[in-house]
Amino acid sequence: MAIDKIPQHRREAISQAVHQAYQDAEIDLDTLKPGIVPLYRLIQSYPISVDEIQDMTAQKVAEFLEVETGQTILIPEDKDCLLAGYLYLQQYQDSLSGCILTEKRPSAAPIFRRRFSAAHELGHYLLHFLPLLEINRRNRTSEPLIVTEGLYNPKQEEAEQDIFNGELSITDGLDTILENLGIDRNLMEAEADCFAGELLIPEKGCYELAKRYQGRFGKKLDVLVGRLAPEFLVSKSAMKQRLIDLNIVGKLPKVLV
Ligand SMILES: [Zn+2]
Repeated sequence: MAIDKIPQHRREAISQAVHQAYQDAEIDLDTLKPGIVPLYRLIQSYPISVDEIQDMTAQKVAEFLEVETGQTILIPEDKDCLLAGYLYLQQYQDSLSGCILTEKRPSAAPIFRRRFSAAHELGHYLLHFLPLLEINRRNRTSEPLIVTEGLYNPKQEEAEQDIFNGELSITDGLDTILENLGIDRNLMEAEADCFAGELLIPEKGCYELAKRYQGRFGKKLDVLVGRLAPEFLVSKSAMKQRLIDLNIVGKLPKVLV
């Protein structure tokens, strides 16, 4: 689902979550240099570890998590299918822990894709998991809450577009969360993608670099996308979406030719 389908009140919630993430990691967005953002520092301010698994299949994820958490992990039917990312969150009584796993082999998952997957999962944590925890706390639910998501690799024709097939599963409460947030299930994926784009490409740095490149390369959107994507270590499609969302080209100063 496209990011532009996200209703305004949720766009605001996503921006707030991005700002909260920077604040929690004590990173000042106003003084952050334009370029690659310190993603792992952002994630590590939460009780979430980050790890990589080579040739990551559902089977390997389950084995890894069983050692890490001591829990038996249900393996999906398609246990040998390669995954691009995986999220595991667990809350039981007062303890909250989680981990984000990404593919280790660069030829299977280039670094910009791994970063986008990890940022997408952090988005689920802040946008969907934390509000659910809050609801559970208010309702004094004592059942353990487990959230998992396997991100499947994009299909060949979608490889440039960051279209992941996420399968989010929550032990209990998915309907409550959707009702409370006023969104449908498909929107959760678009929201996590939107969060990832906003987190990895802060507005101020994006504008500054676009302005710098404009002098040399002009205002053509595709040219700016090609120049800026490697600067932020994101895919061209994520870069393009963000430039359009921010209307960066429209905001650039007029230059005399
Ligand atoms: Zn997802």
